[in-house]
Amino acid sequence: MGKSEKLHISLTKLPKNFQEVHPALSDREAVEEANRCLYCYDAPCIQACPTGIDIPTFIKKIASGNVKGSARTIMTANPVGASCARVCPTEELCEGACVLNHSTKPIMIGDLQRYATDWAIKNDQVLFRKGQSNGKSVAIVGGGPAGLSAARELALLGYDVTIFEASPTAGGLNTFGIVSFRLPQEISYWEVDQVKRLDVRIRTNTAVGKDVSADELLDSFDHVVLAAGMGQVPDLGIDGEELDGVYDAIEFVKDTKTKPLSNDLVGKNVVVIGAGNTAIDGATCSVRLGAGNVKILYRRTQEEMSAYDFEYEFAKQDGVEFRWLTQPVKIHGDKNGRVKAIECIKMELGEPGADGRRRPVPVEGSNFTLPVDAVIKAIGQTRHQSLIDQFNLEHIDGVVQISETYLTSNPKVFACGDIVFGKGKGEAMVVTAAQQGKQAAYAIHSQYIEETVTA
Ligand SMILES: Cc1cc2nc3c(=O)[nH]c(=O)nc-3n(C[C@H](O)[C@H](O)[C@H](O)COP(=O)(O)OP(=O)(O)OC[C@H]3O[C@@H](n4cnc5c(N)ncnc54)[C@H](O)[C@@H]3O)c2cc1C
Ligand code: SF4
Repeated sequence: MGKSEKLHISLTKLPKNFQEVHPALSDREAVEEANRCLYCYDAPCIQACPTGIDIPTFIKKIASGNVKGSARTIMTANPVGASCARVCPTEELCEGACVLNHSTKPIMIGDLQRYATDWAIKNDQVLFRKGQSNGKSVAIVGGGPAGLSAARELALLGYDVTIFEASPTAGGLNTFGIVSFRLPQEISYWEVDQVKRLDVRIRTNTAVGKDVSADELLDSFDHVVLAAGMGQVPDLGIDGEELDGVYDAIEFVKDTKTKPLSNDLVGKNVVVIGAGNTAIDGATCSVRLGAGNVKILYRRTQEEMSAYDFEYEFAKQDGVEFRWLTQPVKIHGDKNGRVKAIECIKMELGEPGADGRRRPVPVEGSNFTLPVDAVIKAIGQTRHQSLIDQFNLEHIDGVVQISETYLTSNPKVFACGDIVFGKGKGEAMVVTAAQQGKQAAYAIHSQYIEETVTA
C-alpha cells in the first residue's frame, strides 16, 4: 500500500460536534451482544437485508473472536458494508425483522456490523484479491456505492475495470453527501481503497459527457455501467432564490465535509425546505454550525415525510422545529441582496394525486412571514438528463429504464443505483445501490456464462 493511500484511513480530527454521534460498541459489549443472537435457521434478518448479508454468521464470528472473518462475511455481501453499518435504516430492515422483537429487544445488528468493519479499517485489512483476468473490460460511470459495488464484483470475476468519477474522490454521497457525524469520510475512503486494491482504476476529476464522451466509452470498453446517481437539488421556482444565504442542501453538507467549518450561521435563524433525509442532514448540520433556530418547512404532514424515523427523532433531539403543511412562496431580501425573511402559505391535504398521496393545496389568505437569515433547499434531486441523452438511453423524466437484469435500451450499457431510482419505488438507499451494483455485475457476467454454455 502506498503512503498516500494510508493517509486516507487515518482518522481526521473533526470538531467535536461534527464527530460521530453514535458511540461504537466496546469489545466486551460486542461479544455480549453477539452472544444474545439465536443464530436462527432461515434467519429473517438475512431476508430483510437488501444485500443478503449472512448476519448470523458474521455475528457468530464476533462471538468466537474471528473479527476479520466477520468483516469479510459482511463485505462479501455488501462492498459498502462499513458505511451501511452507519446509515442503513436498520429498524426497518434487518433489526426490524429480528425474531427477538417478539420477546426482548432486537440484536443491534448495525452496531455489530460497525464493530467488525471498524476493526478491519483500524487494522488496515485487505479483504479480497482480484480474480484471474478474463480479458473483458468494463467502464463504470460514477464511483458512488452503486459504481463501487459493481466494480468490486467485476474485479473479483476477472474484469478489467475503470471507474470514471467526476469528483476529486470516489465514494459518491457516502463521501460528500451524508453528514460526517453519521458517516465520517474515512469510512467511505476505506471502501474505495478496498476496490482500488483489486487493480480497479479510478479516474477522478473526470466527468463523462464532458471530459470523456459517451461514445469514447462505448468504443473502448466491452460494457458500460452507468451509476452516476442523481444531481443537485432542484430550484424551488419562487422569487428570491438567487439571494445570498440560499443554499442547496447537498452542497451545504458537502462544504461541512470538505472545507473549514463556517461561522456564518452562528446565532442565525435557518429554514430548511423539504422533509427527506437530505433536509434532516441540512437541518442537523445547521444546528452544529451554531444556528440559533432551525425550522423544517414541509408542504405535507409528518405521515408523508420521506425521512427515516430515526432521522426525524435525531433532528427533534437536536432541537429542530417542524412546520407541517407549510409551503414557501417567496424569499425576501435586504438591500444588500441577503435573505431576511421567507413568506409561506398554509396548506391542507386534498384529493390523492397520481402517486396515491393526498395533494397539498393552499389555504387562501393564509400567508405569513418568518424572519430568516438562511434558506436551505432540500426538495429532492435533479436527474442527469444530458448524460443519459449522450448514451441515447430510454428514460422517463431522467429515470433510466432498465430490464430485470439492469440492462438499458443499449445492449452494451447497464445502469444501477439512484440513476434508475423512480418515485414511488421505495427509498433511494445506499444498501439498495450496493445491491443493484452487484446485480448489474452479475448480469454482465451471466452473458459470458451463457455464451460458454451455448458454445
Ligand atoms: C444528504 C443525503 C443523505 C442521505 N442519507 C442516507 C442515509 O442515511 N441512508 C441511506 O441508505 N441513504 C441515504 N441517502 C441516499 C444515498 O446516499 C443514495 O441512495 C446512494 O448514495 C446512491 O448511490 P449511487 O452510487 O447510485 O449514487 P451517488 O452516491 O450519488 O454516486 C454517484 C457518483 O457518480 C458521480 N458522477 C455523477 N455524474 C458523473 C459523470 N457525468 N461522470 C462521472 N461521474 C459522475 C458522482 O460524482 C458520484 O460520485 C442520502 C442521500 C442524501 C443526498
Ligand atoms: S433474527 Fe435476530 S436472533 Fe435470529 S439470527 Fe438474525 S439477528 Fe440473530
